[in-house]
Amino acid sequence: MIRVGLGRDLHRLVRGRRFLLGGVEIPARRGELGHSDGDALAHAVCDAILGAAGLGDIGALFPPADAAWKDADSMALLRASFERVKKSGWRLVNLDCVVSCETPRVLPWREEIRASLARALELDPAAVFVKGKTAEGLGPVGKGRAVEALALCLLEKN
Ligand code: MG
Repeated sequence: MIRVGLGRDLHRLVRGRRFLLGGVEIPARRGELGHSDGDALAHAVCDAILGAAGLGDIGALFPPADAAWKDADSMALLRASFERVKKSGWRLVNLDCVVSCETPRVLPWREEIRASLARALELDPAAVFVKGKTAEGLGPVGKGRAVEALALCLLEKN
């Protein structure tokens, strides 16, 4: 049996916060506002793998109203989500992601982000891909006020 999963997240970008994508900190003038560390890509990937396995979503598992997740390391949330997925008997086949932001540029960091996600998800980096896009100056992403991440994954179970 195979199943696909889709995750999407958007975070506001503000001064005085770190800019994190898949656990990789990228130097930037603004960073992601969030209850946790704000890593939009890590959150999108959580939702993709949890959704594919029918195990809920990041908001249900790690509620923002719960003080336990204040400033949480989103890669720890991802590893915890992945543990649940594995416990349900699923194997992650591959992951494909799109990150949209006006600045900073994602491309120079792609290999590091792929490696970071692959480590957390026990995948070969070849099975993890990340694309960086801009929004052509349109909308909150285009105005540099937000970063958006999309993630798509495939799970397999015998
Ligand atoms: Mg989020």
